[in-house]
Parts: sequence; C-alpha cells; structure tokens
Amino acid sequence: ARKGKTPEEVVKRYLQKVRNLPEEDCTICMEPLVGPSGYKGPGVSGIFRAESVGRLAQCGHQYHLQCLVAMYNNGNKDGSLQCPTCKTIYGVKTGNQPPGKMEYHVIPHSLPGHPDCKTIRIIYNIPPGIQGPEHPNPGKPFTARGFPRHCYLPDSEKGRKVLRLLLVAWDRRLIFSVGTSSTTGESDTVIWNEVHHKTEFGSNLTGHGYPDPGHLDNVLEELRAQGITEEECLP
Ligand code: NAD
Ligand code: ZN
Ligand code: ZN
Repeated sequence: ARKGKTPEEVVKRYLQKVRNLPEEDCTICMEPLVGPSGYKGPGVSGIFRAESVGRLAQCGHQYHLQCLVAMYNNGNKDGSLQCPTCKTIYGVKTGNQPPGKMEYHVIPHSLPGHPDCKTIRIIYNIPPGIQGPEHPNPGKPFTARGFPRHCYLPDSEKGRKVLRLLLVAWDRRLIFSVGTSSTTGESDTVIWNEVHHKTEFGSNLTGHGYPDPGHLDNVLEELRAQGITEEECLP
C-alpha cells in the first residue's frame, strides 16, 4: 500500500475499540454489529476477526472492522478513510484525477454580478491516456473531451480564497476523475468531480456561468466535503 501502511493499519489508526456493541446494523454490510461481518469478498482475511467492531474516533459511527477494510480496499488506498454515514474524513483524502496541468491568470474584465473586480481565468488541460489501477477500467484508454477547459472566478478576496483551495484540490487529484459523463453518456472519459466550476464567461446560458450569487459559498462547501478548508491549508 502507498505510504507503507497496510489497509488494516490505516483502519486501526482512525478507530477506537468498542466494548458494548449497540443493537444496530453495520451500514456497510447491513448485518447486525453484534454478529459477524457480512463481507464475503477477498482481501480481508488479515488481522481482524469477522466479529470485530470499531468506532471512528471523531464522528463515533461504528462498523465491522472487516467491512471498513473492504471499503478502503475498494477506494484508491491513499491512507485516508471517509465515514460512509456522515462523510467525516480521516487523514488526507485524494482522488484519481489523471495527470495534466492547471494554470491561471487575471484577465481585465468583470464577471456579471462582480462589477467591482477583474476575473481569474483557470485553464485545465488533461490529455487522454491509459487508466491506472485507481480508475474504473485499469489498462483501458480514457478520452478527454473539451480540453483545455476554461473556468472563471471573480478576482475578489473570496474568489482568490477559492482559487487557493482549488490549487490544493488539484494537487490532491480531486478536480476531475475518470468515469461516465452525465452530459454526454460517454464512459471512460475525464469528468468533473464533486467541485463545481463556472465555464461560461459573459452570460449564463448553460447554468455554468455568472451571475450566480451563491457560487463561491457553494464551492467552499464542496471543497470542505473533500476535506479542503482554509484553516487546514494555512502554512
Ligand atoms: P458531467 O457531464 O459528467 O458532469 C459532472 C459535473 O460537471 C456535474 O456537476 C455537472 O453539473 C458539471 N458540468 C457539466 N457540464 C459543465 C460545464 N459545461 N461547465 C461546468 N460544469 C459542468 O461532466 P463532464 O462530462 O466533465 O462535463 C461536460 C462538459 O465538458 C460539457 O458541457 C463541455 O463543457 C465539456 N465537454 C466538451 C466536449 C467537446 O467535445 N468540446 C465533449 C464533452 C464534454
Ligand atoms: Zn459490516
Ligand atoms: Zn461518521
């Protein structure tokens, strides 16, 4: 595993032992926590017994340890864990965005709804390639449509804050992913991940343009859901 940690070690690091098991089901396997894990797949025959249960240290949600290991193995195994119930992130979450480039510069025009400042233009460029083990179909090619993709933020204090956090999201491979486009239906292609961008400059014909008074706050909330906040990113 990356970072030299086995899946069991990662799971263990974020968990506390549970003494009195609650009369609840494990929401990963849907079996009672007082019984064994219902997970039957490969890769969990390690150090945990099927009956072992743990509670996530911060949010307190409880699961079979084998179920958490199976969930971890199903993701991109980056040393982080996300509670499937409340989405609390343990460690640093990363994604599977393919290699590419993110650039930005200020252009001397104002966006609709932001008349008092200039505009930040972000340019994302991702070439097509071959899927890695972290993608849906490893070894198969993926396409990359519509690149370079241009995105716009107001060059205001809040817009620059969003930019700083987007740069962190890019480094953590969270801006794009590989999958099926909900717009075109094409599979094995580069798609936007869970952080919305404005790709239209002077109008809002697509719904991905300005004005949109809530946009920056929405993006900050979406970044928070990926574990990216200003507090966490200060030096
Ligand atoms: P998608 O359609 O699977 O959607 C994923 C997320 O991106 C959704 O939240 C959606 O609301 C948002 N999204 C969809 N279209 C967007 C847009 N134009 N601007 C900003 N956000 C958008 O994701 P996808 O396939 O990456 O996005 C489709 C967009 O990609 C197209 O609208 C187009 O801009 C671009 N594209 C261009 C070509 C081309 O040949 N020029 C081909 C395919 C896609
Ligand atoms: Zn379970
Ligand atoms: Zn939780």
